[in-house]
Amino acid sequence: MIITKKKDRKKLLESTGRYNRFFLLGCSECATLCGTGGQEQIDELKKELEESGKTVTGGFVAKTGCQALGTKVELKQFKEALDNTDCVIVMSCGAGTQSAVEIFPEKAVYPSNDSLFLGNMTRLQMFDERCSLCGECVLDLTGGVCPVTACPKGILNGPCGGTKDGHCEISAEIPCAWVRIYDRMNKLGRLEEFGQTTLAAKDWSASIKPRKLNVREQKDKKSGGEEKKK
Ligand code: SF4
Ligand code: SF4
Repeated sequence: MIITKKKDRKKLLESTGRYNRFFLLGCSECATLCGTGGQEQIDELKKELEESGKTVTGGFVAKTGCQALGTKVELKQFKEALDNTDCVIVMSCGAGTQSAVEIFPEKAVYPSNDSLFLGNMTRLQMFDERCSLCGECVLDLTGGVCPVTACPKGILNGPCGGTKDGHCEISAEIPCAWVRIYDRMNKLGRLEEFGQTTLAAKDWSASIKPRKLNVREQKDKKSGGEEKKK
């Protein structure tokens, strides 16, 4: 899931200061779990905007904010409120905000959150970064621990000389990724691979931005055009 945190509210109110009528758009998925874009946060921001003399014409928690087509359909029921709005504040991630830009090409769209990383929820509203979306996964070679993300230097063949008592030299709070990889491989009985496999330099061209993936086109090529007809 995409981990978000609320932007400084004072700054948000300042940056949207030129507008008077707002619609607040949340997301029922990641942003709700992060406590940044659910109904409760919409109600909070509505109150703050109204206390500063602004009008909130409506608010809605979209099912999946980064899914522009679905969100557009869901928002049809708010046509009047949206027609009376001069700024949409999006309370999800940067992808959700850009869906709203697509849906409302003529309106101002502002994010209320900062998007931080792709995260795993370890406990309620506690998140860890485990994958950096590098585009060329090496977890099969590292016992399932990601060196690109878990090692602050992203070292592919570690550990570096800074590891101490199983911890990282960058911070004693970070377990050394390569000690974790060693321990995992040991547990899996794959230790012999540890000394023999040298991970090749990553092909960073797999993560040149902006990335695109068209699964439909791929399926279509495989099926000789049958998919397109569906
Ligand atoms: S190697 Fe790490 S960053 Fe790359 S895809 Fe796998 S888990 Fe994600
Ligand atoms: S101590 Fe371990 S986790 Fe830290 S930078 Fe070196 S290899 Fe990476």
